[in-house]
Amino acid sequence: MNELIANLHMHTTYSDGHGTHASIAQAALKAGLDVIITTDHNIFINGLDQYFQEDERKLLLIVGEEVHDVLRDPQKNHLLVYGASKELCTFAGDPQNLINQANMAGGLAFIAHPVDPALMAFGEENLSWVSWEVKGFAGIELWNGLSELKNVMHNYLDGLFYAFFPQFIAQGPLLPTLQRWDDLLSRGGKVVAIGGADAHALPMHLGPVKRTIFPYDYHFRSINTHLFTPEPLGNDVYTDRRMIIDALRQGRAFVGYDLPASTKGFNFTARGRNQTAWMGEEITLDEGITFQIRLPLAVECRLIRDGQPLKVWREREFITHIVNQPGVYRVECYIQFLGKRRGWIFSNPIYVRPS
Ligand SMILES: [Zn+2]
Ligand SMILES: [Zn+2]
Repeated sequence: MNELIANLHMHTTYSDGHGTHASIAQAALKAGLDVIITTDHNIFINGLDQYFQEDERKLLLIVGEEVHDVLRDPQKNHLLVYGASKELCTFAGDPQNLINQANMAGGLAFIAHPVDPALMAFGEENLSWVSWEVKGFAGIELWNGLSELKNVMHNYLDGLFYAFFPQFIAQGPLLPTLQRWDDLLSRGGKVVAIGGADAHALPMHLGPVKRTIFPYDYHFRSINTHLFTPEPLGNDVYTDRRMIIDALRQGRAFVGYDLPASTKGFNFTARGRNQTAWMGEEITLDEGITFQIRLPLAVECRLIRDGQPLKVWREREFITHIVNQPGVYRVECYIQFLGKRRGWIFSNPIYVRPS
């Protein structure tokens, strides 16, 4: 398997972002990304998917969409759609129909910023997902950069501080979002977790201070989604896009906060007597399932089963652990950075099904 670093949530000048597709792609290349998916609000732009290249590095830009019902009051329910072949915002009024339409158009639906606090000091509303009765979505955005910012920022002074020192913001997915994910997983289906920057690169005016808050470049070095694909990027946009959408559909992915240290190289796999599974995949319980966890750095690593911590390791880079019970198993890693214990890696689950 080949690891691709992707950022899956960002806005361009086609909606409320401040960068063009080309300038964002250049920033992503510099930050070391392999894939970006732009997600402008209620607009799908056909024909822009393309490679960008600099020296030996190559990046694939894919156009997706973030859809919401502009007539809804209050505003809620943002949906990220990847890989659909058509404009979907006309279906925004009914979240279930929107998800069905995204699926029928060959796309994947992910619930954006499921829990999103209001930030009234800056006129930012609570844009949480509320229509939890829906079915058929591929997954949720477990860690959203903007929601977390809204959670830690309470006034203008905070705003000023974080505008200059964004590296102090990220600590992990919001706890209610993690709980929501575990709750959805406990219902038996697959729910894929992704991370998203929600990058806008907004110019902010705080009295006399003018600053672009959280430029794309910063976002692309922080919360990313690492995907595992059978092949590296090739030369055919159509084939590569299908390969990336497939990894997302399977959940062959983890969310990595790459700012404290690169999370590249992390792995979580399972081996049974005659089968193996990657993150996002199912494996049937036989005599015992051996998990292997590989960490890029020896930090705190937790194995979670059905939402409950099962075991914690510290200062190990390579871990093996045998389990004999079915369940939804996932891994969380934490790292010390700027005086705080911060979330570093959140894997997608391996689903150990009863035999
Ligand atoms: Zn949104
Ligand atoms: Zn967004």
